[in-house]
Amino acid sequence: MKTTTSENLFNRAKELMPGGVNSPVRAFRSVGGSPFFTERADGAILTTADGEELIDYVCTWGPAIHGHNHPAIRAALAEALEKGTSFGTPNPYEVEMAERIRDMVPSVQKVRMVNSGTEATMSCIRLARGCTGRDKIVKFAGCYHGHVDSLLVKAGSGALTFGHPDSAGIPEGFARETIVLPFNDEDALEEAFRSRGEEIAGVIVEPYPANNCLILPQKGFLQKLRALCTRHGSLLIFDEVMTGFRVAPGGVQEKEGVMPDLTALGKIIGGGLPVGAFGGKAEIMDYLAPEGPVYQAGTLSGNPLAMAAGITALWLLKKEIPYEKLNQMGQDLCKAVLDTAKAKGLPMQMPQTGSMFSPIFSSKPVTNFDQALKIDTERFGLLFYYALQHGVYLPPSAYETCFISTAHTSENLEKTADVLVAGLKSF
Ligand SMILES: *Cc1c(COP(=O)(O)O)cnc(C)c1O
Repeated sequence: MKTTTSENLFNRAKELMPGGVNSPVRAFRSVGGSPFFTERADGAILTTADGEELIDYVCTWGPAIHGHNHPAIRAALAEALEKGTSFGTPNPYEVEMAERIRDMVPSVQKVRMVNSGTEATMSCIRLARGCTGRDKIVKFAGCYHGHVDSLLVKAGSGALTFGHPDSAGIPEGFARETIVLPFNDEDALEEAFRSRGEEIAGVIVEPYPANNCLILPQKGFLQKLRALCTRHGSLLIFDEVMTGFRVAPGGVQEKEGVMPDLTALGKIIGGGLPVGAFGGKAEIMDYLAPEGPVYQAGTLSGNPLAMAAGITALWLLKKEIPYEKLNQMGQDLCKAVLDTAKAKGLPMQMPQTGSMFSPIFSSKPVTNFDQALKIDTERFGLLFYYALQHGVYLPPSAYETCFISTAHTSENLEKTADVLVAGLKSF
């Protein structure tokens, strides 16, 4: 693979930006080497600055469920652009966006738009505290909720692969307000509520954790969580920034039939532009300013361009309902790879749900953070580079989840299966 232009760009970037990037995991530190730069992206294909074409399974870390540069999203943006890029007053797109979210996400009655997933989770925990008058937040080890101070404790994603899950710069006092529990452990959950239930403002969870390998909840775990929150007057917050609109139109809550009090959204909701949102029961959302005492604001929140792109992304999902097809693609790809791993006696797992999957080198399925820390990341690095050299771009970290988009063709998937299978055989 040619990389000269990317390397030159990265050398310039390193002089100008910490690590040469604007978001740490992009720097390829956990697989080694240096990142390629993308010149353009279309459908399932990234074209690098050196003109190499790659089948993309990062999908801009989740948003690109329709693939890159979708013609309908481009058209919506062009139309919105004619009218201006930002107004600072309410605009019609915001109302349509809110209606779409309410229609698709079962637990949401009212919504507020923000500009990133981080803003959404940060606002959810403030709202939970403001509305319950309590301080403690429960999170689960390995779950990543953006770079919010009090949620960057035992977090997944980039925070995990950089070996300092507890970031510098977070006062211990903040971290003390966060109770960290193991995912999938009902006993730990019950004990936490038994001892501190009256202090817990809310529990935030990735209902399908996907930032420390893809982990699925054991049967009954989310239901247990719901029941305990209800019994103790704590709010249940689903961070569906990744899973929202991805695993079903209404996210995990629709798929599992478990209703949170608040939901954080992001990624797909922006159609490739920087958007987040959070929503929930009207009586809770009405604690927000200007209706209530919990302050939250944003100069560019509800931006017309971002709304136009996001509305179209959601509209396409409603129109195409691609979930079954995406799931089939995910299953087929994972099966091909796993069959080879098995035949070669390689300890491998491929957890998959819908269009999300994660190739893990581990002899046992990963059900929590401690197990995730034991996976063989070096072997993943080998597979990552084998795939990259053969035109397939997997996430540059063993802990991140792969995504399939509606733009991935069956040829793309067959080629990917062939490359991954050949990669495993070469070990
Ligand atoms: C990506 C992600 C976030 C953070 O979203 P940003 O837009 O990067 O701030 C929060 N929660 C989950 C589950 C995510 O996957």
